[in-house]
Amino acid sequence: MEKIIDIRSDTVTKPSPGMREAIADAEVGDDVFEGDPTVQKLEAVVAELFAKEAALYVPSGTMGNQVCLKAQSSPGDEIILDTESHIANYEVGAAAVVSGLQMRMIDCPGGLMSPERVAQVIRVDNIHCPKSRIICLENTHNRHGGVVMPLERMRAIAEVARANDLLVHLDGARIWNASAATGIPLADYAATADSLQCCLSKGLGAPIGSMVVGSRQFIKRARRARKMFGGGMRQVGILAAAGLYALEYNLPRVGEDHQKALAFAERVRRIDGVVLRPDPPPTNIVVIDLAGAGKTPGDVLAALEQAGVWMVPFGATLIRAVAHLDVSKDEMLDAAEVLARVIEA
Ligand SMILES: *Cc1c(COP(=O)(O)O)cnc(C)c1O
Repeated sequence: MEKIIDIRSDTVTKPSPGMREAIADAEVGDDVFEGDPTVQKLEAVVAELFAKEAALYVPSGTMGNQVCLKAQSSPGDEIILDTESHIANYEVGAAAVVSGLQMRMIDCPGGLMSPERVAQVIRVDNIHCPKSRIICLENTHNRHGGVVMPLERMRAIAEVARANDLLVHLDGARIWNASAATGIPLADYAATADSLQCCLSKGLGAPIGSMVVGSRQFIKRARRARKMFGGGMRQVGILAAAGLYALEYNLPRVGEDHQKALAFAERVRRIDGVVLRPDPPPTNIVVIDLAGAGKTPGDVLAALEQAGVWMVPFGATLIRAVAHLDVSKDEMLDAAEVLARVIEA
């Protein structure tokens, strides 16, 4: 059987032999008692990487975001976030359910939240109004095709937050990609945020896990929230070992995924009627608009699957492909050829 080219997401990677060895060799203890040396090492390494006081290992990016929101708010507070953000679209309404937060969604053209617009929607101090509490940023931006939010923009929004006594949360599931694309250190991005969540299971190839970073006091509250959400894990050093391996061996390779996405995009762009959103792809995500090609995502994805290429639907006329550790540039080029054949058939 033909090899399947799975470019649905950068989460589909499988642990490499080296990573599996690190997992097998991990020293472990009970992490709920703060007794797992491998988890503690991972948390220390990540805190230093982002130049924050402390870090916390959590099972998923969704739990990472929700732990941050829970630890920084009270029920009835309002969070300000992009209409297209992951927190608003793909976390099952958790902020409303588990933290009682009201989501104030604002349109952010091109995935770039504007400090002026944020300032407009911050609530006045009035008995009728919810309290504006947290501004949520996302970098890189998933639904906007892996767009990198410029550091200057983040700093401007952080200034608005500080001036109004609000906090900034950064959903940095793919902050690795932002840093690889710009050369800006992770710590500079982190400095704009009071809380940050990043995924070891996306571009870095770990099988599971995200990190929350921030001040020591914040991480103490986040640890309680994680326990409340059922995310206190025991001998979880076997997974943290994969995270440490991912940071050492796979973080330096993240930029290669951007090159693969570019090569793929160059071929896809020449397909009749197809438009990339945005074009060129800024990082490892390629969003393909089929509207002008007269094909539906459902038909195209079904034909792709028949030919051994897996992508995902991403809106009424959109499909998405993501470059990752386990796909080569040649495979991305093959996938682009298959897509051309399917659309031009
Ligand atoms: C994937 C993702 C998350 C959530 O991560 P999970 O581990 O899938 O829960 C959060 N934010 C963004 C922007 C993501 O792409």
